[in-house]
Amino acid sequence: MTDDEVVRIRGAGLSGLAAATILAKAGKKVEVHDIRGDSGARFDGDFQGLENWTSSNDFFDEMRAWGLDPEAFKSNEFQELSLIHPDNIVTVAKSHKIAYRIVERGTDEHCIDQGFKRMALEAGATIHYKSKISPEECTIIAAGPKDTSAIAFGEVFKTSYPNHVAFQLNDKLAPGAYSYLIIIDGVGLICTCLWRKQKNSNRYLNETIAWYENAYPELDREPIKRVGGKGDFSIPSTYFSNGQYFVGEAGGLQDFMWGFGMRYAITSGVMAANSILSGSDYDAEIKKKLLPLIKLSATNRMLLDRIGDRGFKWLANYWMKHQRKNGGNGLLFMEQIYRPGIIRRVLWPFTNRILLKKTKYSDGRKGRRMPFRKALKRDKWEMSKRGKEISEEWKEIRSSGGKVSFSESD
Ligand SMILES: Cc1cc2nc3c(=O)[nH]c(=O)nc-3n(C[C@H](O)[C@H](O)[C@H](O)COP(=O)(O)OP(=O)(O)OC[C@H]3O[C@@H](n4cnc5c(N)ncnc54)[C@H](O)[C@@H]3O)c2cc1C
Repeated sequence: MTDDEVVRIRGAGLSGLAAATILAKAGKKVEVHDIRGDSGARFDGDFQGLENWTSSNDFFDEMRAWGLDPEAFKSNEFQELSLIHPDNIVTVAKSHKIAYRIVERGTDEHCIDQGFKRMALEAGATIHYKSKISPEECTIIAAGPKDTSAIAFGEVFKTSYPNHVAFQLNDKLAPGAYSYLIIIDGVGLICTCLWRKQKNSNRYLNETIAWYENAYPELDREPIKRVGGKGDFSIPSTYFSNGQYFVGEAGGLQDFMWGFGMRYAITSGVMAANSILSGSDYDAEIKKKLLPLIKLSATNRMLLDRIGDRGFKWLANYWMKHQRKNGGNGLLFMEQIYRPGIIRRVLWPFTNRILLKKTKYSDGRKGRRMPFRKALKRDKWEMSKRGKEISEEWKEIRSSGGKVSFSESD
């Protein structure tokens, strides 16, 4: 690229804005185009966890070293997590350092998306919202997920309960995955993730809410809105093709195991920008730095898909045993499952065959993607009385203006 050529980026989400900031700071002319009305509009008040276990470096230190400002948005750091086993036993996973940070996605000023938007604008990038731009006109493709491999959705509510994060491994309420409760400064989120495609997905959220209400009698939940969206998990043959850089979820860069895609999105945006500036080989660098982690997460996912609640119970027990053996540091377990080892290397050919299917992307690249798995027989169950009441309660809130930020195709 010549120095005065405009770098066009498709998507003003985390990956696109991270790239825009680095490029604009280096003096490049940058235009970002987003189909929605604002950055973060895709999420509208969803709490998400920014993980701190796939690298030994603290992610905020990495951001600072890249020239991104982690103080530009609100975050709450956590060193522990209530781990809810499938048989409802609750244990606490602890860490000696920051294990993760909770950020809010959305269009309010304190949201991470808005922090990244401000960074890009201050660096000199221009952002065009409600802008339809063809991918061919863009150098960086950062438009988020396209297809659906899994969905997550939740309810945001007011509560007087103190700040808290709980993570539940439960194959009934969250088929193949997990549900969670996050409470930050008087606002709560109960969310369930479906890694198997269901006919009436709302059923899972209603029943999950009923479960948490029962387990946390002091929750005093006042529902506000429902949020959620899809995840796209794939491994393309290349992350750079026809002069275009594929970053974030548009590049399939997602954590197959739990769906913690934000760190990959920001990191890949920065890597694409640095490649444009220095001429380094983006595809080779992604394959060296991020792909091994993604492959590990895919193998972990292949195992999780199969184990059901008995396996989840074993996993939760193993995690706690590992924590006890390691001086009470539960984060080591998370770090360990993302570390390459002989077993997962041996399992990779099975993961590739069992979990992933051949795909051809609309831009002509080929790859392997994780299809949304079919429902299993055990996913059909009768909703509880309280689950049904919550469903009715939500219908009323919805008819008096309660918003839903997504449809299952989003
Ligand atoms: C419900 C839910 C919960 C999640 N929880 C977590 C979590 O706890 N931790 C975590 O790390 N990750 C989580 N993720 C994943 C995380 O949100 C994504 O991996 C991350 O946002 C990907 O960043 P991105 O830049 O690729 O896409 P995004 O941040 O989604 O940005 C993509 C942007 O592209 C725009 N766009 C879409 N189509 C077009 C188009 N045709 N033209 C122009 N612009 C377009 C969109 O409007 C959007 O602004 C969650 C995802 C969901 C759905």
